[in-house]
Amino acid sequence: LFLFLLVITRIYAPFDQSLALIAEMFVSQVSADRMMEIQDMPVAEGAAAFQPNGHDIVFEHVEFAYDEKKVLHDVCFTAKEGEVTALVGPSGSGKSTCARLAARLWDAAEGAVKVGGVDIATVEPEVLLTDYSMVFQDVVLFDDTVLENIRLGRRGATDKEVLAAARAANCDEFVRKMPNGYHTPIGENGARLSGGERQRISIARALLKDAPIVLLDEATASLDVENETRVQGALSRLLAGKTVLVIAHRMRTVAGADHIVVLENGRVAQQGSPAQLMAEGGLYRRMVELQQESAQWRLA
Ligand code: ADP
Ligand code: MG
Repeated sequence: LFLFLLVITRIYAPFDQSLALIAEMFVSQVSADRMMEIQDMPVAEGAAAFQPNGHDIVFEHVEFAYDEKKVLHDVCFTAKEGEVTALVGPSGSGKSTCARLAARLWDAAEGAVKVGGVDIATVEPEVLLTDYSMVFQDVVLFDDTVLENIRLGRRGATDKEVLAAARAANCDEFVRKMPNGYHTPIGENGARLSGGERQRISIARALLKDAPIVLLDEATASLDVENETRVQGALSRLLAGKTVLVIAHRMRTVAGADHIVVLENGRVAQQGSPAQLMAEGGLYRRMVELQQESAQWRLA
């Protein structure tokens, strides 16, 4: 599957950045067949251009199943524009599935996902995704130069704009240490780069794109302190003023979120501000306490 994605994305990436972004979401779990289907997803009759009223993301009574297996049940939450909404919960609770539905990589079986009041099932995925940036550690990188890998964020960006984004994403220092700086080939899927460096390239792309919605899957592997500080600095520049939906693995992110949605077995077990959820007790507080005991400071 991974090789297939590489081939597909190499063929299309120069022509179609949204396909490359879709591919990023797929690297983890979604099938290659599905990727083809996305091209042909049905759009409601008479669908007009996508003209959302703002960029709040609203999940309304969302139900979802992969094949027979029901994985989301009556999921309701709002990720508000200008806020960071964190999805937390044990492994397998449905966080990644919610992120995929938010970008219409799948459609809800029942209920709806709306962006700025528009049911995204009525919007062509390619049109929809122009309003999204996705930031992942397992970002898809191409065997091309650093410069071109970042430029994928916005075709037609000038070198100057690419460099500005790279600098804002704290890429400059490690890129300048490479043999040919920004003109260094990045190697097969960035083999030469650390996880933190790959993530910063992904952030640079997103800064260049400057889309109103950011979907962020935080690194599960622990970054060294230096890398983590630099990733955090880059993120804070990217996320300001956006609608941010983050699959949060780090306590610092969770505690700093405006709104937290706690998933358990595909249901919303709790939601509210960090302070509200701490006061309420239950799963959220248990997860926080568990994390405080572990040296890793990670959530599932
Ligand atoms: P999380 O991100 O919280 O770990 P996921 O959304 O990845 O949870 O998964 C929720 C449930 O859906 C799990 O039971 C998982 O095994 C299942 N699942 C996830 N992706 C797929 C898929 N592509 N096909 C079938 N089942 C899947
Ligand atoms: Mg996941």
